[in-house]
Amino acid sequence: MQASEKRAWVEIDLGALQRNAAAVAQRARAPLLPMIKADAYGLGAIPVARALEPLAPWGYGVATILEGLELRAAGITRPLVIFTPLGDDELGDVRAAGLTPSLSRTESIERWRRDGGGAWHLAIDTGMSRAGVRWDEVGGLSDVIGRCPPEGAYTHFHSAELNDGSPDAQEERFRQALARLPERPKLLHAENSAAVARRHRSAWDCVRPGIFLYGVGSGEGALVDPEPVVHVRARIIDLRRVRNGETVSYDATYRAVGDRRIATLGIGYADGYPRALSNRGCAILGGRRVSVAGLVTMDMTMVDATDVPCALGDVATVIGNDPAPDVAAVARAAEMSPYELLTGLRGRLSRVYRSEGVRA
Ligand SMILES: *Cc1c(COP(=O)(O)O)cnc(C)c1O
Repeated sequence: MQASEKRAWVEIDLGALQRNAAAVAQRARAPLLPMIKADAYGLGAIPVARALEPLAPWGYGVATILEGLELRAAGITRPLVIFTPLGDDELGDVRAAGLTPSLSRTESIERWRRDGGGAWHLAIDTGMSRAGVRWDEVGGLSDVIGRCPPEGAYTHFHSAELNDGSPDAQEERFRQALARLPERPKLLHAENSAAVARRHRSAWDCVRPGIFLYGVGSGEGALVDPEPVVHVRARIIDLRRVRNGETVSYDATYRAVGDRRIATLGIGYADGYPRALSNRGCAILGGRRVSVAGLVTMDMTMVDATDVPCALGDVATVIGNDPAPDVAAVARAAEMSPYELLTGLRGRLSRVYRSEGVRA
């Protein structure tokens, strides 16, 4: 047994990741700008980027300078675009690290130009109201943009997974904003995963998928679904009989009806297994579904394994797809988003990379 597979771990299928990325590119008929921010949604930005390299993405998207630095140090040489607003006093670090900033204010663009210019992307807000220049105020930037033209310009959809027509409306605003620029930037981009999965081929120059690559689809109405990428496994680290009427875990919220066999899994909320799954989560053990019994604790979670032959050291799947509840189902049960669940998987869980079927 590997030390990394002793208690609980996250298994990441890099072959499935590659195939999901290829499926996005094919559906969008556009090059990829994979979003590997937040350590590739918790999966590990460096191994994820390395696995995506053979697909020759245009570049990668990150959220912070440190995330970019980490990838540069690992030898990733493609463009790395930072998709959050930066302080003017951070632009020196961005340049020194060879990263591409998103800019949207006159003073920042002017500062970038004065300090030497170079590639930057214009962030255009078409309704997300989070970052970027408003689509109807882009005209105010035309002077500085004329002096220091961006390599790219982009917007971000707020509700691509809803069938509410909002991406079309946002795209119309994006077009209006682009018409106000002195010239067309080389690289226009807009689509996130749900936009690619639910719409026709991209109208733009590349697409920015994140969660789809990591195995989470956009639900009913999607025209393409990803293969599962993430499995979270935990071993049975203790096993006991509990008699009729006895209770399990803190606050005694689970009371045995009849004699039960309770297996303790070596994973808890300090690993990112949501406490909200107390008495409602499930896992797969020996191919059978077992239910969480009692409150999830910091380091351990109990399941009712009465009907399942099992022994100390056996491995349960608590998130996954064989046929454990997948990321989306677990997130739903915990009343959180799949993004939150994935990025919440903590460092105490080792990452185990599977490379069967990976193309070099
Ligand atoms: C995170 C992010 C994406 C990717 O979104 P997914 O829903 O994970 O595909 C795309 N664009 C921007 C600007 C983002 O911040």
